[in-house]
Amino acid sequence: MKALIFGPPGSGKGTYASRLQAKLAVDVIAMGDIFREIMKEDSPLGKRVKGFVEKGLLVPDDVVVEVLRQRLAKVSSGKGFILDGFPRTIEQAETLDKIAKIDVVILLTVPDWIIVERLSTRRICRKCGEVYNVRYLKPKVEGVCDKCGGELYQRSDDTAEVIKDRIRVYERQTKPILQHYNERRIPFVDFKCEKLETPPEVAVESILKELKKLNLT
Ligand code: AMP
Repeated sequence: MKALIFGPPGSGKGTYASRLQAKLAVDVIAMGDIFREIMKEDSPLGKRVKGFVEKGLLVPDDVVVEVLRQRLAKVSSGKGFILDGFPRTIEQAETLDKIAKIDVVILLTVPDWIIVERLSTRRICRKCGEVYNVRYLKPKVEGVCDKCGGELYQRSDDTAEVIKDRIRVYERQTKPILQHYNERRIPFVDFKCEKLETPPEVAVESILKELKKLNLT
């Protein structure tokens, strides 16, 4: 299965993708995680990427596409993948069409008030990227990742000001891509989250059920 997981920041893309990965034995390629790794390097590319990410702006397409190509080349042949955070512009979607045939778009819809509440209380594992929330998705031990024991931190772009910009960027530059996949008749799996405290497992079960109907599991 080659899938896109698509939705605004804070809609649960990373949280659900990591759980789907465990159930479906697919690779998850999360562009934001890749950029956060690159940002740790004291390299010209790291500094360039940081300038965009910290302002909630999109990294330029040429950089993104090259990074994606390198990552996709590492997927074992025949193994499926879920793309989280790619494509985010029409240009990226058009480039992806030339690289891979996408079977399904998993679309997450979440109201803005949930996004703001979730992102401002979100924590991420510094080592493996697992997502937690200090209110709604607590780790067993405060500040420590359940999966790998890594330290949890707050992303520098999870601040009220940057969150607003990221939502704006999603509405203007990313959401219009849905039309691209509609026109190509790629099947959609829709999950609408209306409650802040919906457990990830409920969302994942619902997504898996829909993927099954499409014979993709
Ligand atoms: P995410 O972890 O998906 O929220 O991504 C964090 C940040 O990384 C975004 O706000 C962008 O600055 C950058 N980023 C991630 N994916 C892309 C992409 N496909 N195109 C451009 N920038 C991206």
